[in-house]
Amino acid sequence: MMPEFAGSQYAIEIIYLIASALFILSLKWMSSPSTARHGILAGEIGMVLAIGGTLLRHGIVDWKWIIIALVLGSGIGIPLGMVQMTAVPQRTALSHAFGALCVTLVGTAEFYLRSPNIPKFMMSVLSLEVILGGLTFTGSLIAAGKLQEVLPQRPITYKGQNVVNLLFFGIAIALAVYLVIHPEAKQFFPVIVGIALVFGVFLVIPIGGADMPTVISLLNSYAGLSAAAMGFVLDSKLLIIAGALDGSSGFILSVIMCKAMNRSFTNVLFGAFGQVQPSAAAGQEARTVRSATPEEAAAILAAANKVVIVPGYGMAVAQAQHKVRELYDALTKKGVEVRFAIHPVAGRMPGHMNVLLAEADIPYDRLIEMDEINGDFPQTDVALVVGANDVTNPAARTDQSSPIFGMPILDVDKAHTVMVIKRSMNPGFAGIDNPLYYLDNTLMLFGDAKQFVGAIVRELGGGH
Ligand code: NDP
Repeated sequence: MMPEFAGSQYAIEIIYLIASALFILSLKWMSSPSTARHGILAGEIGMVLAIGGTLLRHGIVDWKWIIIALVLGSGIGIPLGMVQMTAVPQRTALSHAFGALCVTLVGTAEFYLRSPNIPKFMMSVLSLEVILGGLTFTGSLIAAGKLQEVLPQRPITYKGQNVVNLLFFGIAIALAVYLVIHPEAKQFFPVIVGIALVFGVFLVIPIGGADMPTVISLLNSYAGLSAAAMGFVLDSKLLIIAGALDGSSGFILSVIMCKAMNRSFTNVLFGAFGQVQPSAAAGQEARTVRSATPEEAAAILAAANKVVIVPGYGMAVAQAQHKVRELYDALTKKGVEVRFAIHPVAGRMPGHMNVLLAEADIPYDRLIEMDEINGDFPQTDVALVVGANDVTNPAARTDQSSPIFGMPILDVDKAHTVMVIKRSMNPGFAGIDNPLYYLDNTLMLFGDAKQFVGAIVRELGGGH
């Protein structure tokens, strides 16, 4: 080995080590809103180092293709990073699809480069890499399509579907095992990749659009595992570490989301959840609700001592967070104690509400997690629900027949007065009616969240 080669190899290893440490720190810092921005920066620097270190490798024979790929990748990545916050789940799914496609292509190239003398361990990780990569690629595309509503959101199911899916997966695994024993049987490799690609579609079509965020988190985990397998194939410790971090964090996130919805993995993957229940629509017509104007709402809020604001998906859709900040300022100025109740699955991705409220510079110490604030609702004068629905639905506590029975909710119905801002009586994500709206202590504030909160702020004499 040439001395300068050994030297640069050493430098690359050090760069990779620093990048790995930054990825770990990035995850750690992202677990709290106060350090989350540092976490993003650490992840970005880690990624730049990882790419930079890779470009220092001696195996590079032609820079032309690398530069073309960098320009193309940045050209796609920059606009992808600028989507609306509500489109982040499908944007994330597309990123997983690209990552998984890359893993599958690298795995396929490595197979044909090394074939037919592939040791057993290498063939096992190669198979794992292309199976996970292939199914994540197509599965993520379907998930993104469902969320973007370019594909039907409803679960597409048929009799015996699970058996067919299992059979497909079983054939891919059996062929992979055969290739491990007989790596010279090259003809089976494209079959394995093909089955993985088809399996990804089969895996995601029976799941309703409603469960896509959890599915995306699971696919994130598969993408990470496939990248870790690629790390073994390419002998890259950095890839193994980054893939393992991605795989485990994606899995933990899916578990947290399932817990917050009180659902099991099987229920998410095979439950066909999220279709509008006919009984919800029927029940709605027979019952009446009380509504109020912005003036009335402002008067009630101004007379309160303790107010808890409950943000939900509708706040994100309306981009009402800055108006909510103005309301917080106006009420605080009048001596009202204002806090925010954060449900773990409010919105469409974990941490959705924290990010929006942080964007509007609402102090972190005003954001209270569900378990901590639920005991305070009976002493709360007004619970103001801004575009949240399912996460406040008391049927989850009382109605055993409800699809969300058992899901932990924010106990807003226990506040002295509940005011709910939403545009109509339409259901939320789970597609079910909300008995909260018919309670005696509930007032409906019908309108767009941004406009309605803005009108209340004007009544209170605040805003810009
Ligand atoms: P929901 O989807 O239950 O309800 C949102 C409400 O916002 C709707 O009822 C809608 O009513 C209202 N809304 C929509 N647009 C506006 C607007 N412009 N102005 C005012 N209101 C508006 O949201 P929640 O946050 O309460 O609950 C989240 C749901 O998402 C849960 O069911 C959860 O399980 C699910 N979920 C969340 C995930 C996460 O990670 N956060 C992941 C997977 C699922 P209207 O149309 O009448 O205005």
